[in-house]
Amino acid sequence: MDLIKDGWFTELSPLWPGQATSLEVEEVLYHKKSKYQDVLAFKSKYYGNVLVLDGVIQCSERDEFAYQEMMANLPLYSHPCPRKVLIIGGGDGGVAREVVRHPLVESVVQCEIDEDVINVAKSYLPGMAQGFYSPKLTLHVGDGFEFMLQNQEAFDVIITDSSDPVGPAESLFQEPYYELLKSALRSDGILCSQGECQWLHLDLIKEMRTFCKKLFPVVEYAYTCVPSYSSGQIGFMLCSKDPETNFKEPLDNLSKQEIEDMEFKYYNSKIHKASFVLPEFARKALSDE
Ligand code: SAM
Repeated sequence: MDLIKDGWFTELSPLWPGQATSLEVEEVLYHKKSKYQDVLAFKSKYYGNVLVLDGVIQCSERDEFAYQEMMANLPLYSHPCPRKVLIIGGGDGGVAREVVRHPLVESVVQCEIDEDVINVAKSYLPGMAQGFYSPKLTLHVGDGFEFMLQNQEAFDVIITDSSDPVGPAESLFQEPYYELLKSALRSDGILCSQGECQWLHLDLIKEMRTFCKKLFPVVEYAYTCVPSYSSGQIGFMLCSKDPETNFKEPLDNLSKQEIEDMEFKYYNSKIHKASFVLPEFARKALSDE
Protein backbone atom coordinates (compact mmCIF):
# COMPACT_ATOMS: atom_id res chain seq x y z
CA MET A 1 0.00 0.00 0.00
CA ASP A 2 2.28 2.77 -1.20
CA LEU A 3 -0.16 5.60 -0.39
CA ILE A 4 0.97 5.05 3.21
CA LYS A 5 4.64 5.08 4.18
CA ASP A 6 6.18 5.11 7.66
CA GLY A 7 2.75 5.65 9.22
CA TRP A 8 1.83 8.67 7.07
CA PHE A 9 -0.69 8.89 4.23
CA THR A 10 0.50 11.32 1.55
CA GLU A 11 -1.86 12.76 -1.06
CA LEU A 12 0.32 12.93 -4.16
CA SER A 13 -1.56 13.82 -7.33
CA PRO A 14 -0.90 15.39 -10.73
CA LEU A 15 -3.89 17.59 -9.83
CA TRP A 16 -1.55 19.58 -7.56
CA PRO A 17 2.00 19.14 -8.83
CA GLY A 18 4.83 19.91 -6.42
CA GLN A 19 2.77 19.82 -3.25
CA ALA A 20 1.20 17.18 -1.02
CA THR A 21 -0.88 16.88 2.14
CA SER A 22 0.11 14.23 4.69
CA LEU A 23 -1.91 12.83 7.59
CA GLU A 24 -0.57 10.52 10.26
CA VAL A 25 -2.28 7.11 10.14
CA GLU A 26 -3.28 5.08 13.18
CA GLU A 27 -5.00 2.20 11.43
CA VAL A 28 -6.08 1.22 7.93
CA LEU A 29 -9.81 0.44 8.11
CA TYR A 30 -10.54 -0.50 4.49
CA HIS A 31 -8.65 -0.62 1.21
CA LYS A 32 -10.03 -2.14 -2.02
CA LYS A 33 -10.46 -1.31 -5.66
CA SER A 34 -14.13 -0.86 -6.41
CA LYS A 35 -15.58 -1.08 -9.93
CA TYR A 36 -14.74 2.62 -10.38
CA GLN A 37 -11.91 3.67 -8.10
CA ASP A 38 -9.42 2.87 -5.36
CA VAL A 39 -11.27 3.20 -2.04
CA LEU A 40 -9.26 3.72 1.17
CA ALA A 41 -10.50 4.52 4.68
CA PHE A 42 -8.11 5.02 7.57
CA LYS A 43 -8.20 6.19 11.16
CA SER A 44 -5.88 9.19 11.40
CA LYS A 45 -4.17 10.48 14.49
CA TYR A 46 -5.77 13.95 14.60
CA TYR A 47 -8.42 14.12 11.85
CA GLY A 48 -10.63 11.16 12.82
CA ASN A 49 -11.55 8.68 10.09
CA VAL A 50 -10.60 9.73 6.57
CA LEU A 51 -12.00 8.64 3.18
CA VAL A 52 -9.64 8.63 0.18
CA LEU A 53 -10.67 7.89 -3.44
CA ASP A 54 -7.98 7.28 -6.07
CA GLY A 55 -5.42 8.69 -3.64
CA VAL A 56 -7.34 11.96 -3.05
CA ILE A 57 -8.77 12.93 0.37
CA GLN A 58 -12.59 13.24 0.17
CA CYS A 59 -13.37 14.00 3.78
CA SER A 60 -12.13 13.71 7.33
CA GLU A 61 -14.32 13.51 10.42
CA ARG A 62 -12.57 16.54 11.91
CA ASP A 63 -13.36 19.10 9.22
CA GLU A 64 -16.03 17.61 6.92
CA PHE A 65 -18.72 19.95 8.26
CA ALA A 66 -16.97 22.95 6.68
CA TYR A 67 -17.67 21.44 3.28
CA GLN A 68 -21.04 19.71 3.75
CA GLU A 69 -22.77 22.58 5.55
CA MET A 70 -21.70 25.12 2.94
CA MET A 71 -22.37 22.94 -0.08
CA ALA A 72 -25.92 22.25 1.13
CA ASN A 73 -26.88 25.53 2.74
CA LEU A 74 -25.51 28.09 0.25
CA PRO A 75 -28.11 26.92 -2.32
CA LEU A 76 -30.85 26.01 0.20
CA TYR A 77 -30.80 29.46 1.87
CA SER A 78 -30.71 31.15 -1.56
CA HIS A 79 -33.93 29.47 -2.74
CA PRO A 80 -37.35 30.75 -1.55
CA CYS A 81 -38.79 27.25 -1.12
CA PRO A 82 -36.38 24.33 -1.67
CA ARG A 83 -38.87 21.46 -1.46
CA LYS A 84 -37.37 18.97 -3.89
CA VAL A 85 -33.60 18.42 -4.02
CA LEU A 86 -31.32 16.23 -6.15
CA ILE A 87 -27.80 15.25 -5.08
CA ILE A 88 -25.37 13.79 -7.62
CA GLY A 89 -22.36 12.03 -6.04
CA GLY A 90 -21.96 12.59 -2.31
CA GLY A 91 -21.27 8.92 -1.51
CA ASP A 92 -20.12 9.74 2.04
CA GLY A 93 -23.66 10.90 2.93
CA GLY A 94 -22.58 14.25 4.40
CA VAL A 95 -24.45 16.49 1.96
CA ALA A 96 -27.59 14.34 2.29
CA ARG A 97 -27.32 14.71 6.10
CA GLU A 98 -27.35 18.49 5.74
CA VAL A 99 -30.07 18.67 3.07
CA VAL A 100 -32.60 16.42 4.86
CA ARG A 101 -32.47 18.47 8.05
CA HIS A 102 -33.48 21.69 6.27
CA PRO A 103 -37.07 22.33 7.42
CA LEU A 104 -38.48 23.18 3.95
CA VAL A 105 -36.99 20.16 2.16
CA GLU A 106 -39.62 17.47 1.59
CA SER A 107 -37.88 14.99 -0.69
CA VAL A 108 -34.32 14.26 -1.78
CA VAL A 109 -33.15 12.05 -4.63
CA GLN A 110 -29.49 11.07 -4.68
CA CYS A 111 -27.48 9.34 -7.41
CA GLU A 112 -24.03 8.06 -6.41
CA ILE A 113 -21.98 5.93 -8.80
CA ASP A 114 -20.12 3.75 -6.31
CA GLU A 115 -21.96 1.48 -3.87
CA ASP A 116 -18.67 0.61 -2.14
CA VAL A 117 -18.23 4.26 -1.10
CA ILE A 118 -21.72 4.29 0.42
CA ASN A 119 -20.99 1.08 2.37
CA VAL A 120 -17.59 2.30 3.56
CA ALA A 121 -19.21 5.54 4.78
CA LYS A 122 -21.89 3.55 6.63
CA SER A 123 -19.19 1.49 8.36
CA TYR A 124 -16.50 4.09 9.02
CA LEU A 125 -18.10 7.54 8.72
CA PRO A 126 -21.38 6.97 10.59
CA GLY A 127 -21.76 10.65 11.48
CA MET A 128 -21.86 11.52 7.79
CA ALA A 129 -23.74 8.46 6.52
CA GLN A 130 -26.73 9.24 8.76
CA GLY A 131 -28.26 11.14 5.82
CA PHE A 132 -28.77 7.82 4.02
CA TYR A 133 -31.29 6.68 6.66
CA SER A 134 -33.65 9.64 6.27
CA PRO A 135 -37.18 8.82 5.09
CA LYS A 136 -36.94 11.93 2.85
CA LEU A 137 -34.17 10.28 0.76
CA THR A 138 -34.41 8.01 -2.30
CA LEU A 139 -30.98 6.65 -3.22
CA HIS A 140 -29.97 5.40 -6.68
CA VAL A 141 -26.66 3.77 -7.49
CA GLY A 142 -25.49 4.80 -10.95
CA ASP A 143 -23.63 7.34 -13.05
CA GLY A 144 -24.81 10.90 -12.47
CA PHE A 145 -24.60 11.91 -16.13
CA GLU A 146 -26.65 8.90 -17.24
CA PHE A 147 -29.13 9.60 -14.44
CA MET A 148 -29.63 13.16 -15.69
CA LEU A 149 -30.22 11.92 -19.24
CA GLN A 150 -33.08 9.79 -17.97
CA ASN A 151 -34.49 11.87 -15.09
CA GLN A 152 -35.64 15.31 -16.00
CA GLU A 153 -38.06 15.80 -13.09
CA ALA A 154 -38.45 19.35 -11.91
CA PHE A 155 -36.10 19.97 -8.97
CA ASP A 156 -35.80 23.15 -6.91
CA VAL A 157 -32.13 22.58 -6.07
CA ILE A 158 -29.50 20.29 -7.60
CA ILE A 159 -26.21 19.72 -5.76
CA THR A 160 -23.27 18.01 -7.46
CA ASP A 161 -20.96 16.70 -4.76
CA SER A 162 -18.43 15.01 -6.97
CA SER A 163 -14.83 14.00 -6.73
CA ASP A 164 -12.25 15.74 -8.97
CA PRO A 165 -12.59 15.82 -12.79
CA VAL A 166 -10.44 12.77 -13.43
CA GLY A 167 -11.89 9.26 -13.41
CA PRO A 168 -15.64 8.72 -12.94
CA ALA A 169 -16.44 12.40 -12.26
CA GLU A 170 -14.96 13.84 -15.49
CA SER A 171 -18.30 14.33 -17.28
CA LEU A 172 -19.71 16.20 -14.25
CA PHE A 173 -17.44 19.19 -14.96
CA GLN A 174 -18.52 19.67 -18.58
CA GLU A 175 -21.10 21.76 -20.41
CA PRO A 176 -23.41 18.91 -21.59
CA TYR A 177 -23.94 17.90 -17.95
CA TYR A 178 -24.88 21.49 -17.03
CA GLU A 179 -27.34 21.60 -19.92
CA LEU A 180 -29.04 18.53 -18.42
CA LEU A 181 -29.02 20.12 -14.96
CA LYS A 182 -30.60 23.27 -16.34
CA SER A 183 -33.47 21.42 -17.98
CA ALA A 184 -34.08 19.38 -14.80
CA LEU A 185 -34.52 22.53 -12.69
CA ARG A 186 -37.79 24.39 -12.15
CA SER A 187 -37.96 27.96 -13.51
CA ASP A 188 -36.56 29.38 -10.24
CA GLY A 189 -34.20 26.44 -9.71
CA ILE A 190 -30.68 26.69 -8.28
CA LEU A 191 -27.65 24.48 -8.58
CA CYS A 192 -24.48 24.18 -6.54
CA SER A 193 -21.48 22.14 -7.66
CA GLN A 194 -18.12 21.21 -6.21
CA GLY A 195 -16.07 23.97 -7.80
CA GLU A 196 -12.45 23.03 -7.07
CA CYS A 197 -9.82 25.29 -5.48
CA GLN A 198 -8.98 28.83 -6.59
CA TRP A 199 -5.28 28.32 -5.70
CA LEU A 200 -4.98 25.19 -7.84
CA HIS A 201 -7.54 25.15 -10.62
CA LEU A 202 -8.39 28.71 -11.57
CA ASP A 203 -8.34 27.89 -15.31
CA LEU A 204 -10.85 25.06 -14.84
CA ILE A 205 -13.05 27.30 -12.66
CA LYS A 206 -12.90 30.04 -15.33
CA GLU A 207 -13.91 27.56 -17.99
CA MET A 208 -16.81 26.29 -15.87
CA ARG A 209 -17.94 29.84 -15.17
CA THR A 210 -17.84 30.67 -18.89
CA PHE A 211 -20.14 27.83 -19.94
CA CYS A 212 -22.39 28.33 -16.89
CA LYS A 213 -22.83 31.99 -17.87
CA LYS A 214 -24.05 30.88 -21.29
CA LEU A 215 -26.74 28.78 -19.61
CA PHE A 216 -27.77 30.72 -16.48
CA PRO A 217 -28.49 34.43 -15.84
CA VAL A 218 -26.86 34.28 -12.38
CA VAL A 219 -23.51 32.55 -11.73
CA GLU A 220 -21.35 33.01 -8.64
CA TYR A 221 -18.32 31.32 -7.09
CA ALA A 222 -17.94 30.89 -3.32
CA TYR A 223 -15.44 29.00 -1.18
CA THR A 224 -14.94 27.37 2.18
CA CYS A 225 -11.87 26.45 4.22
CA VAL A 226 -11.18 22.74 4.78
CA PRO A 227 -7.73 22.05 6.28
CA SER A 228 -7.47 18.45 5.03
CA TYR A 229 -8.04 19.42 1.35
CA SER A 230 -5.10 20.30 -0.86
CA SER A 231 -4.35 24.04 -0.33
CA GLY A 232 -6.94 24.13 2.48
CA GLN A 233 -9.81 25.53 0.41
CA ILE A 234 -12.49 24.32 -1.95
CA GLY A 235 -15.07 26.23 -3.97
CA PHE A 236 -18.66 26.00 -5.13
CA MET A 237 -20.14 27.05 -8.46
CA LEU A 238 -23.66 28.39 -7.89
CA CYS A 239 -26.09 29.05 -10.75
CA SER A 240 -29.70 30.19 -10.79
CA LYS A 241 -32.35 30.17 -13.50
CA ASP A 242 -34.06 33.10 -11.78
CA PRO A 243 -32.39 36.41 -12.77
CA GLU A 244 -33.52 37.90 -9.44
CA THR A 245 -31.47 35.47 -7.32
CA ASN A 246 -28.81 37.17 -5.24
CA PHE A 247 -26.64 34.39 -3.81
CA LYS A 248 -24.69 36.86 -1.69
CA GLU A 249 -27.76 37.70 0.44
CA PRO A 250 -29.23 34.60 2.11
CA LEU A 251 -33.05 34.69 2.20
CA ASP A 252 -33.07 33.85 5.92
CA ASN A 253 -30.85 35.68 8.35
CA LEU A 254 -30.54 33.02 11.02
CA SER A 255 -30.62 34.01 14.67
CA LYS A 256 -28.14 32.59 17.18
CA GLN A 257 -30.91 30.32 18.45
CA GLU A 258 -31.76 29.06 14.98
CA ILE A 259 -28.10 28.27 14.30
CA GLU A 260 -27.92 26.35 17.58
CA ASP A 261 -31.15 24.49 16.80
CA MET A 262 -29.78 23.47 13.39
CA GLU A 263 -26.52 22.43 15.14
CA PHE A 264 -24.41 24.28 12.55
CA LYS A 265 -20.68 24.24 13.20
CA TYR A 266 -19.61 26.29 10.17
CA TYR A 267 -22.62 27.81 8.38
CA ASN A 268 -24.15 31.07 9.54
CA SER A 269 -25.62 33.95 7.57
CA LYS A 270 -22.47 36.08 7.81
CA ILE A 271 -20.20 33.35 6.47
CA HIS A 272 -22.75 32.73 3.71
CA LYS A 273 -22.26 36.34 2.53
CA ALA A 274 -18.49 36.31 3.14
CA SER A 275 -17.90 33.12 1.17
CA PHE A 276 -18.51 35.04 -2.08
CA VAL A 277 -15.83 37.64 -1.33
CA LEU A 278 -12.82 36.53 -3.34
CA PRO A 279 -9.15 37.50 -3.08
CA GLU A 280 -8.16 39.93 -5.85
CA PHE A 281 -6.41 37.39 -8.13
CA ALA A 282 -9.51 35.15 -8.18
CA ARG A 283 -12.00 38.03 -8.30
CA LYS A 284 -10.28 39.39 -11.41
CA ALA A 285 -10.05 35.99 -13.10
CA LEU A 286 -13.70 35.26 -12.38
CA SER A 287 -15.20 38.61 -13.33
CA ASP A 288 -16.32 40.00 -16.68
CA GLU A 289 -13.75 42.84 -16.54
N1 SAM B 1 -16.14 16.54 -0.95
C1 SAM B 1 -15.48 15.69 -1.79
C2 SAM B 1 -14.30 16.26 -2.49
O1 SAM B 1 -14.44 17.02 -3.43
O2 SAM B 1 -13.22 15.94 -2.07
C3 SAM B 1 -16.38 14.91 -2.65
C4 SAM B 1 -17.00 13.88 -1.79
S1 SAM B 1 -18.01 12.64 -2.40
C5 SAM B 1 -17.22 11.28 -1.61
C6 SAM B 1 -17.64 12.44 -4.14
C7 SAM B 1 -18.44 11.30 -4.73
O3 SAM B 1 -18.68 11.50 -6.11
C8 SAM B 1 -17.78 9.93 -4.61
O4 SAM B 1 -18.52 9.15 -3.73
C9 SAM B 1 -17.78 9.38 -6.04
O5 SAM B 1 -17.99 7.99 -6.09
C10 SAM B 1 -18.91 10.19 -6.64
N2 SAM B 1 -18.90 10.24 -8.12
C11 SAM B 1 -17.83 10.39 -8.93
N3 SAM B 1 -18.22 10.36 -10.20
C12 SAM B 1 -19.56 10.21 -10.21
C13 SAM B 1 -20.54 10.11 -11.25
N4 SAM B 1 -20.20 10.16 -12.53
N5 SAM B 1 -21.83 9.95 -10.88
C14 SAM B 1 -22.20 9.90 -9.58
N6 SAM B 1 -21.31 9.97 -8.57
C15 SAM B 1 -20.01 10.13 -8.87
